[in-house]
Amino acid sequence: MPEGHTIHRLSRDLKQDLKNIFVAASSPQGRFAEGARLIDGKELIRSEAWGKHLFLSFGHQQSVAALVHIHLGLIGKFRPKTLDTETKESIRLRLKGNESFWDLTGPQDCRLIDKSEYFHLIERLGPDPLRRGSNVKDFQASLIQKKVPIGAALLDQSIVAGIGNVYRAEFLFLHGINPNREASKVSTSEAADLWFTFQELLRIGVRLNRIVTVSQDDGGATPGRLPRKRSLYVYKREGLPCRRCSNEITIGKIGGRSCWWCSVCQPI
Ligand SMILES: [Zn+2]
Repeated sequence: MPEGHTIHRLSRDLKQDLKNIFVAASSPQGRFAEGARLIDGKELIRSEAWGKHLFLSFGHQQSVAALVHIHLGLIGKFRPKTLDTETKESIRLRLKGNESFWDLTGPQDCRLIDKSEYFHLIERLGPDPLRRGSNVKDFQASLIQKKVPIGAALLDQSIVAGIGNVYRAEFLFLHGINPNREASKVSTSEAADLWFTFQELLRIGVRLNRIVTVSQDDGGATPGRLPRKRSLYVYKREGLPCRRCSNEITIGKIGGRSCWWCSVCQPI
């Protein structure tokens, strides 16, 4: 599932490719035909990521004609293509860019929204560590009130926006925090440390367009050079030896989804 780094990277790449041109938009599948008609022939004025949500504003000069909300969900993809590889039935939205065309397939959401729906959506989102102006204090304040496991709290987009199943397991490992610990029992300084790790590693995720959490010390190579199967500490590594202590990695259900941890490195 795409996490926040994917959406921020997407937002940036779309801006790069579609800037200063009149975009040709279509919905080959037909399910976003009305929206595509409104966008067609307009410019991309603004592209914004907030957690796992993408907001694209189309119009002319500063006047917005259409605001599109996209959430990729579990299986959605929005990728640049140079060859027509998707079947027509699967393409919700196609945008023609300078370098390539962008095909959106399988999104959880792709719809036109108005300003009030936009504000309603972002009001429900917690701080996004990749956004300028996001605040560690907001994260600390909501964490302290939660009686749920920290592993579940990190998936709650109203507490912190943009973290998904891979990053939550990895961040907790890096700070030696057991995912079953109650969120309110995570100290203020631990919460601050987590927050700065979110920022640091999500930025690496945006740059590399993939998730890498293993440090150079533990992995023996810089993040950009680490092969995929050596780039994570615990995610989907149940039964395998911990990269730091060799203990077997544990798997359990937390917040309704599988989570992985090392019971030696993350005792409580
Ligand atoms: Zn360990």
